[in-house]
Amino acid sequence: MRAFQLVEWQRPPELREVPVPEPGPGQVLVKVGGAGACHSDLHIMEAPAPAPGEGTRLPFTLGHENAGWVETPGPGVAGFAPGDPVIVYGPWGCGLCANCREGKENYCQRTGGLGGGLGGHDGGMAEYLLVPASRFLIPLGTLDPREAAPLSDAGLTSYHAVKRSLHLLGPGSTAVVIGAGALGQMAIQMLQALSAATTVVTVDTAAGKLEIAKRMGADEALLSGDQAVTRIMDMTRQQGAQLVLDMVGIDPTLRMAAQVARVLGHLTIVGLGGGALPVNFSSPPHECSVASPYWGSIPELMEVITLAQQQKIKMLVEHFPLERVGEAYQFLHDGKIQGRAVITP
Ligand code: NAD
Ligand code: ZN
Ligand code: ZN
Repeated sequence: MRAFQLVEWQRPPELREVPVPEPGPGQVLVKVGGAGACHSDLHIMEAPAPAPGEGTRLPFTLGHENAGWVETPGPGVAGFAPGDPVIVYGPWGCGLCANCREGKENYCQRTGGLGGGLGGHDGGMAEYLLVPASRFLIPLGTLDPREAAPLSDAGLTSYHAVKRSLHLLGPGSTAVVIGAGALGQMAIQMLQALSAATTVVTVDTAAGKLEIAKRMGADEALLSGDQAVTRIMDMTRQQGAQLVLDMVGIDPTLRMAAQVARVLGHLTIVGLGGGALPVNFSSPPHECSVASPYWGSIPELMEVITLAQQQKIKMLVEHFPLERVGEAYQFLHDGKIQGRAVITP
């Protein structure tokens, strides 16, 4: 089969011919329907080689946002049959540590929550994906894997980031989403679905993204800059927003996040832009908590799938065949993807 593999650090990945994996006991072979091209993959492609000793195995197949159909359940797998549409929970934990037993395999105490397409494990930018345990598969019901794939990361990560702050989002509250790309667009819809009384403001550098964000339910969509800060402060009577989600994570967005967050609020860094948040006694505001959530839990993915089945959330998807995967990432890099590029092998 063909697979889009990172072969060397800081070199463009390559489409290569590799064997179709055989599922062992408890494992499941999935025929990939859709594999989302996440901005994190661009960070991986640009990353320098890890220090010796903490190395990630190369080559490995990219793609950590996957859905498809069960192809072959391995020996001992119950509850799944060939042809079942499934979404793949991405962070593959050990299943046995305290966090994994709560379904929070993103915070596995042994594996660190890396999975297919990350940390040297083969991912879904290929015709087939070997999933190491059937507990990582969630049935999709009537949802199409080619449309649903981004729910496993763009959807789940945004959902987790919103849900952990829901107690702050009462009537009259404000949430700011910085970066209205795939994750930001999901977060806007999640905020509307889970907290209809919250005013949702989004900020982006691209006017086109602001248009899409408005269609997806943002109450205000502002071009990045000082005027955006002034507008948000005016809207909140100079108090700032209860929740600020930074889906970019570079120095300027983190600075803006601190300027528009409120006392006792939440400033949540989701973007892996590599910026630093300056912290002193009065900035971020007093008792504003800062968190950097990574992905989400298995039960949360089930909730995300339910929201999609209820048609409360929908990812704006552009499909690319596997032979155009390199082009899809170039478009993502150039800001030309409106929502999420999904590879359909
Ligand atoms: P994307 O490319 O679809 O969206 C990024 C958006 O940010 C774009 O709309 C872009 O115009 C906007 N942007 C860029 N610079 C900006 C600025 N200075 N101010 C305002 N907006 C700006 O990316 P994505 O796939 O949605 O991913 C977003 C980030 O989240 C990436 O850094 C990715 O690595 C990270 N991520 C983190 C997790 C996690 O678990 N924490 C999971 C998935 C993705
Ligand atoms: Zn991702
Ligand atoms: Zn674990």
